[in-house]
Amino acid sequence: MSITSFSQLPLNQALAQRLVDLNYMVPTAVQSVSLAPALTGLDLVVKGKTGSGKTLVFSLALLNKLQPECNEVQALVLCPTRELADQVAQEIRKVAALIGNVKVQTLCGGTPIEPQTRALQHGAHIVVGTPGRVEEHVFNGSLMLTETQTVVFDEADQMLDMGFTETLESILVYVPEVRQTLMFSATYPDKIMKLAKQYMREPEFVEAKEEQ
Ligand code: ADP
Ligand code: MG
Repeated sequence: MSITSFSQLPLNQALAQRLVDLNYMVPTAVQSVSLAPALTGLDLVVKGKTGSGKTLVFSLALLNKLQPECNEVQALVLCPTRELADQVAQEIRKVAALIGNVKVQTLCGGTPIEPQTRALQHGAHIVVGTPGRVEEHVFNGSLMLTETQTVVFDEADQMLDMGFTETLESILVYVPEVRQTLMFSATYPDKIMKLAKQYMREPEFVEAKEEQ
């Protein structure tokens, strides 16, 4: 289903109101085709160029089912670089503002690991990070993904080009099989199709007809 207004979506009040406050008036092309299936919990591979508004798609999908009273990592977002992870974390925090007490933790390399480990001990609802550092935290037991319901691969083509395929696969071993997996990419190379086939449940491939 393609939507023309955010009001057509089954969003909880805190998210619907926040879109109004943020002055997000109409969905972008990629949002209009992917938000409805994303919110029903389907696995999606979404193709869209830079600046098309993909972050909001997965932010709403993971936040709409988030339970703030459950102090576990419920969503994991993997990004190719620290800069992208920081941007994504910022956008999620912005969209989540009216839900209250949503803890978003970034886990990126190139920075000491101990403060991240301590932060994780205080709990995180959403982890946004780069594959290598997330894998490190999973392996040393500081990051538990047993309650994770949503996994997002952002800029998936870039992550695979950077050689992260095996790292992504080793992280997924620790995430429940029953989950929603969302993949975002500017291109659909063979590597993407292979990853989607192996780790997603009957993924739907969505692409905006006319990108804004
Ligand atoms: P992408 O990940 O596809 O490259 P982003 O998710 O970073 O793009 O979005 C680009 C910019 O557009 C961001 O600043 C975001 O806040 C803004 N944006 C996203 N959706 C909307 C919308 N529906 N209306 C207005 N601005 C939007
Ligand atoms: Mg993006």
